[in-house]
Amino acid sequence: MSEPTQKYRDKELVDALIKKIKQLTEQIGEKARIMHVCGTHEHDLVKAGLRSLLPKEIDLIAGPGCPVCVSSAQDVDEVLWIADNHNVIIATFGDMMRVPGSKESLYQAQGRGVDIRVVYGVSDAIKLAEQTPDRDVLFFSVGFETTSCVTAAEVIRTTLPNFSIYSSHKLVPPAMELLLQRDDLEFQGFLAPGHVSTIIGAKPYDFIPEKYDFPVAVAGFEPVDILVGIYALLKQFNENTSRVDNMYKRYVRYEGNVAALKALEEAYVVSDARWRGLGVWPDTGHEIDDKYSHIDAKKKYELPELEVTDLHSGCICDEILVGKSKPHKCKLFNKACRPDHPIGACMVSHEGTCNVAATYEEIVWED
Ligand code: SF4
Repeated sequence: MSEPTQKYRDKELVDALIKKIKQLTEQIGEKARIMHVCGTHEHDLVKAGLRSLLPKEIDLIAGPGCPVCVSSAQDVDEVLWIADNHNVIIATFGDMMRVPGSKESLYQAQGRGVDIRVVYGVSDAIKLAEQTPDRDVLFFSVGFETTSCVTAAEVIRTTLPNFSIYSSHKLVPPAMELLLQRDDLEFQGFLAPGHVSTIIGAKPYDFIPEKYDFPVAVAGFEPVDILVGIYALLKQFNENTSRVDNMYKRYVRYEGNVAALKALEEAYVVSDARWRGLGVWPDTGHEIDDKYSHIDAKKKYELPELEVTDLHSGCICDEILVGKSKPHKCKLFNKACRPDHPIGACMVSHEGTCNVAATYEEIVWED
C-alpha cells in the first residue's frame, strides 16, 4: 500500500476521529441521520467496519448512489430489443450483465445467443466496432458524472458509422434536490460523493445550504476521509448552521474539472431520467445532444413502447434506494436474493446496498 493511502487508513487517526465524533454526538444529544449518495461510500465504509465503530446515535443511510442499482428495467429491455431486432452487438460494463430487465438480464439473454460483450469502457467498445465493420456495436453506457464524462469525449469525436451509445447517464445534484423535496424522508445532512465531485466540483452543491438550509460535506473513500466528512457534518449540526464543507480537497476543487465539465456540456443535454422503482425524475439525466444524433442509439433505432416491470415481486429496491428501508427488511434478502443470485438491482453490483450488506454481513441498527 502506498504511503499516502496508508495515511488515510491510520488506526490512531481513525481512533482519534471516532473519539471526537462520540464527543460531538454527546453534545448534540440526539440522533443524527446522514445520507450518502454513493455506492463506493457504502461499500468502503462497511468494508472498513465504520458503522460498528460509530455511536449508535449516528445512522448512516445509503441513497441512490450506485449507478447499476438505479438503472431501470426499461433501459435493459430497450437495449435487448435493439439487439434482438437489429442484430447489434451490445458492449457494456460487467456489472450491468446481471441487472434485471423486465423478463431477463443481459446475462440471461447472452445464454440464448444474444451477442453481448463485457468491456472496461467506451474505448473498448469503439475498438470492437472497428474490428467488426460488418456489425453494429451499441455501447450501453450507465453512470453518474464520473463515468459519463469519459463517454462524452467519445460522443464528441467518434464518427464510426457502425457504433452507437445508449445513454443511461444520471446526475447527482438534481437527484439530491429531489430527495430533499420528499416529505417521507428524514435525514439531516448529505455526505457528497468524492469521485463525482472531482468532476463537478463542490460548487454544484451550494444550492443545498442556500435554498434548503441543509448541511453537505464532500468526502473521499478511505476510513479517515469518511470519518472527517461525518465529523464536518456533525459540527454543522452542533453549530446549527449549513454550508458545503469540502473535506476531499486533495482531489476536489470548487470549480471541478473544467475540461471534463466542458465535455459533458458539449455532448449532452439535461433530460428526465428513469430511476429503478422510482419512476421518472425530472432533469436528473443526460441524453446525447441532437448535434451528435448519429451516435445516439435511441435515435438510430426506433424503439417501440415496451411493457416494463421495474421491480420484481417482493423486491423493495425502491425504498432502499432512497434510504427509507434497509436490506434486512426485505423478505428476500440473503434468501431468494443473494449476490450469486440477485433478484433486484441493489444486489447486483459490489457497490449495491443489498450486495454490500450480504457480502460483509453488515451490522444494521434497528430503528
Ligand atoms: S434483497 Fe434483493 S429483492 Fe430485496 S430489496 Fe435487495 S435487491 Fe431487492
